[in-house]
Amino acid sequence: MHSILIYHTISSPAEPMAGDIDIPPHRFERQLQWLSRWRKVVTLDETLTAPRRQRLTAITFDDGFHDNLTVALPLLEQFRLPMTLFVTAGFLGRDGYLSPEELREISKHPLITIGAHGLFHRHFNRLTEEEARDELVESRRMLESLTRKTVDLMAWPYGECNETLERLSAESGYRASWSVWKGSNSQHSLWRVPLGRRDNLPRFIAKALGAYLPVKFVETKFDGLRNRSGHQPIYQPEATAGGSL
Ligand SMILES: [Zn+2]
Repeated sequence: MHSILIYHTISSPAEPMAGDIDIPPHRFERQLQWLSRWRKVVTLDETLTAPRRQRLTAITFDDGFHDNLTVALPLLEQFRLPMTLFVTAGFLGRDGYLSPEELREISKHPLITIGAHGLFHRHFNRLTEEEARDELVESRRMLESLTRKTVDLMAWPYGECNETLERLSAESGYRASWSVWKGSNSQHSLWRVPLGRRDNLPRFIAKALGAYLPVKFVETKFDGLRNRSGHQPIYQPEATAGGSL
């Protein structure tokens, strides 16, 4: 299976951000260094057509944080690695996010593809069908009019999707949509791997190699056994999917 990595913000806030979404620049740089040496990193688009046995890697950023432009992009340029920005269209211009003008500029960059991430980052599984369709269509329309490019890739906020939403996504003109280990891993709920500040290099490598799910399964199973036998678990598995994705 390909490894599609999810980043959010490359920054070092004094307090960890909710959802484990901040990664300090020096750690991100080491991750890119490792990827450029050991993995074939391609555009997200290429992962759609390449056979899964090729085990390619793609880099995605969700939400549209301002530091994607000022911190992440210079590092990606250094290693010549492409990324897809899944932009929450209604957040453009808000404090800490890209402005509409910055989005227009960054969308011209050869390493960057722009995708949609809803209009206001709502929980899609709580929306009516009409509301969900509006979010999908309007966000796409906004991003296309700003960038003057086709926007037909999408990532579900919080990774939330289901069969109805997957159908709506296809009907709204998207070629493919990504979740966060939710849904059927089919064309409109493709799996991605979330990364956060707790991912040291060994954990990052396990995730990038696609070995993290089996590792997590074993960790969880052993914790269960320890609990049943009355021992305290030595290691508490961390929540990886969900949060503020
Ligand atoms: Zn998000």
